[in-house]
Amino acid sequence: MRSLTEQDIRNSFINCSKGEAKRLSLPRDLGERPWDDLDFLGWRDPGAPDRSYLVVERDGRPVGVTLRFPSSQRGFLHRSMCSLCLTTHPGGGVSLMTARKAGVAGREGNSVGLYMCTDLACSLYVRGKKVPESGGRFEESLTMEEQIARATGNLSAFLDKLYV
Ligand SMILES: [Zn+2]
Repeated sequence: MRSLTEQDIRNSFINCSKGEAKRLSLPRDLGERPWDDLDFLGWRDPGAPDRSYLVVERDGRPVGVTLRFPSSQRGFLHRSMCSLCLTTHPGGGVSLMTARKAGVAGREGNSVGLYMCTDLACSLYVRGKKVPESGGRFEESLTMEEQIARATGNLSAFLDKLYV
């Protein structure tokens, strides 16, 4: 994806108020993020451990989503799979993130959930640039490009649900 500035990111959020978007914590290392290897920018809020954010480019414009996840994770022996990049992680490596819907539906309290890598590094797992600690990825017959297309397709389908 193209690199984003702080202002791009703050203006991109579709499911929180302008005030929230103005105040939320952005990554401090925007200049050093591996943009060429990212299908979306994801980060956890250092000040609010139950929050994370992602920004993805759609139709040439950045679209940001605020996510929440439960701070208490399920059993540590449990392994789960990220529904975007299909990487499996033990314990808290995958979290059920929930996103408030956009617009009126969101203000009325509707949200959509998604099991996702807690560190939001799906783009790097798909490219083999980051290796899950003790989880893994299945041997697949798909090429890396096909896996990237699948992960971005999965994310796009999730975003579509926020507008319904
Ligand atoms: Zn993932």
